[in-house]
Amino acid sequence: MPLKTLKQETANALTLEWILHVKNYKLTLNKGYCVGCQICTLACPKEAIKLVKHPKIQGEKAKKAKVDIDLAKCNFCGICDILCPYGAIKISVNGEHLLSVVEKESFPQLVRDIQVDASKFPAGDMKCEESCPLNLIYITRLTPDGNIVKNLKSIPRKDRKKLQVKIDVEKERCPCCRVCEFKCPEGVMHIRKFIHGKIFIHTNKCPEGCTDCLDVCPITGALYYSDEDKKVHPDEMFCIYCGACKVVCPVEEALELKRTKIIHTPVSSGAWNKALEKLASPIEISKELKAKGSQKAFSSVEKRLGWKSA
Ligand code: SF4
Ligand code: SF4
Ligand code: SF4
Repeated sequence: MPLKTLKQETANALTLEWILHVKNYKLTLNKGYCVGCQICTLACPKEAIKLVKHPKIQGEKAKKAKVDIDLAKCNFCGICDILCPYGAIKISVNGEHLLSVVEKESFPQLVRDIQVDASKFPAGDMKCEESCPLNLIYITRLTPDGNIVKNLKSIPRKDRKKLQVKIDVEKERCPCCRVCEFKCPEGVMHIRKFIHGKIFIHTNKCPEGCTDCLDVCPITGALYYSDEDKKVHPDEMFCIYCGACKVVCPVEEALELKRTKIIHTPVSSGAWNKALEKLASPIEISKELKAKGSQKAFSSVEKRLGWKSA
């Protein structure tokens, strides 16, 4: 048992700590990075995380839900850290980023497949770094003698071709929305989504003037407002199926969201199967489990769906 436990909240972060004889476990939630989606709350095996919705004020934009974590239930396993698509939760042991479920190989990592080809990038382009809705793209331009260009506008257009370019993406926080792939010059970014799914808005059920889902969606373009029917519509191309929109939607059946596949490193464990059961749609999970030969977990999904055991 810990000698001391601590929970602290500031405007920017929520921190939980267990202080033991030789070890100090710490969980930090970066409130600026958190979008109030459903992923951690659904996946936490201890049900330690809950979302607190803000009451809607008429005439004001909807606000993302707030995450609260129960220190009495959290055991610092690291599952929330692994699964947060936005990299908002970090767990450390004695100051080092360490995830016990990954160490024990009982849980997989998400596969963030982000390929960058800087050779296809015209050094004068300004749109690419501005394309990321989460500001995760950093472009460094170097002069032929190796100096960093601080202000691109100070370099005459004709000389920009001679610049060397380095492109960095803050991968741990990238939810792989693919917006940059479409907005950067062709061939520069190649992104594969790690959460697949389906989103559908039954606009006939949306109250007139409601844009709550759009107000909280962190990915520009995943939802858009149509001037034609004055309703919000999704764009599957960029949606990462995080569920932040679903959390704030005031009408139960208006917004349908399903996660159908999560791309992860290989693993076969009960902890992962349980998290998957809560995150993704039962039919798709049963496919993954059956493919892996996880008969016990597959049977439990079957039971829930009312199917007969094979
Ligand atoms: S995939 Fe989306 S979040 Fe990731 S770097 Fe590109 S635009 Fe940003
Ligand atoms: S539209 Fe997609 S990306 Fe935007 S909040 Fe909803 S699930 Fe997340
Ligand atoms: S889906 Fe929900 S939040 Fe979005 S416009 Fe319709 S009712 Fe409002």
